Amino acid sequence: MCLDYTKSPLLASVARLPDNLQHMPKSKDSPLSAAASGGAAGSNTVRRLRLRISAAAESTLRSGHPWLFADSIRDQNRPGEVGELAVIYDRKDRFLAMGLFDPGSPIRVRILHAGKPRNVDRAFWGELLEQALIKRDGLFDSQTTGFRWINGESDGWPGLVLDRYGGTLVLKIYTPAWLAWLPQILEVLSERLQPDRIVLRLSRNSIPIAINRFANSDGQVVSGKPIVETVTFLETGLFFEAEVLHGQKTGFFLDQRENRRKIETMSASRSVLNAFSFSGGFSLYAARGGARSVTDLDISAHALAAAERNFTLNKTNRIINACMRKKVQADAFEWLAANRSPMFDMVILDPPSLAKRETERERAVSAYRRLALLGLKLLRPQGVLLACSCSAHVSEQEFFETVRAAARTTARRYTELARTTHAPDHPATIPEAKYLKAMYLTVP
Ligand code: SAH
Repeated sequence: MCLDYTKSPLLASVARLPDNLQHMPKSKDSPLSAAASGGAAGSNTVRRLRLRISAAAESTLRSGHPWLFADSIRDQNRPGEVGELAVIYDRKDRFLAMGLFDPGSPIRVRILHAGKPRNVDRAFWGELLEQALIKRDGLFDSQTTGFRWINGESDGWPGLVLDRYGGTLVLKIYTPAWLAWLPQILEVLSERLQPDRIVLRLSRNSIPIAINRFANSDGQVVSGKPIVETVTFLETGLFFEAEVLHGQKTGFFLDQRENRRKIETMSASRSVLNAFSFSGGFSLYAARGGARSVTDLDISAHALAAAERNFTLNKTNRIINACMRKKVQADAFEWLAANRSPMFDMVILDPPSLAKRETERERAVSAYRRLALLGLKLLRPQGVLLACSCSAHVSEQEFFETVRAAARTTARRYTELARTTHAPDHPATIPEAKYLKAMYLTVP
């Protein structure tokens, strides 16, 4: 279903920011502000939203950080609406930056542009997209049609992610502010990337405003041909299904591709446990790498069924077909605790985020320690453990030290094989964007 965006109250948001707005007008009702048409309100009668901010926030923005927090705003000329373009001035009333205003979020403005004033229009989005595309130039060949085109803050699109699954683009937004700009952005994406369709996915906090104000919904096909539920794509020559309309993230865990590739190279003749297996991504790579057997362990019957379908999609590959497959539907913590004898040559632990907020960090760390310990106990001699964390609240350093600490408590002297973090199509340029880390260990 495609919606008529012309109904959006914010449609006319081709925000013009002429150079004569380089300085903040002294009078609130300056004619200049009226001339600066657009912004979210899209009307010449509405004054542009102007902010003055604390000195500390000023230097944070100058250093290139894309978030302005609500408590850093010293002065604001009017309340402001979701998705409206906010212009931030420094202490000398000179233009500093501009970004998307979200009155419902502590991150009140997500910065789109800093330095000199410029228009936010189709050309602007086109340039921003081009920069993200250039970064991925040469990363993937035709055997990989699923990857991330835009990774939010780290690609200059704060709070927005764009994933590609074959001919389907999935646009996921983490602030409803983006919805005000959706018509322009969809046009730019369609023109440049020529997808079969674009699916809109919404973070939970964006849903009420999306529905009530913009008539958008989670899983809505906002451009192109409709689909029922899943789409198929290629990752290094393997076929996978992505549940783009309602699945976790944008339908698949694209962020683990590089770890999956690494697992493939280590799997020959091994019996592999894939704990928190989801749709069997690691399992298929292990099978293609020549694993003797692969056991999927997940609490969700839905995930295990998806893994089954993904194996079926690749059954013409003889090596994959030869791999013995088992599946266990259980709570991984309980299952690992109940099965402690060495019976695998490789154990993969890729749980969901165990710390969604800072207050959960300590418990998450002890859960990671416990998982690593239980995983190590299952390893036969020369076995390999892959321990992953996608909790942003647990730092790289803390996670790696936790896994090492768990390994030290076993009687076996471990060797660290590798540590990995973000894949190149998932760059993390600010500390807050870093979440993924993984450690490979082997035991004698
Ligand atoms: N490794 C996967 C992604 C894992 S996502 C990949 O590369 O695609 C996390 C998975 O953990 C989900 O499938 C979820 O169903 C599962 N899960 C969550 N809690 C669990 C638990 N307590 N025990 C087992 N599986 C769990």
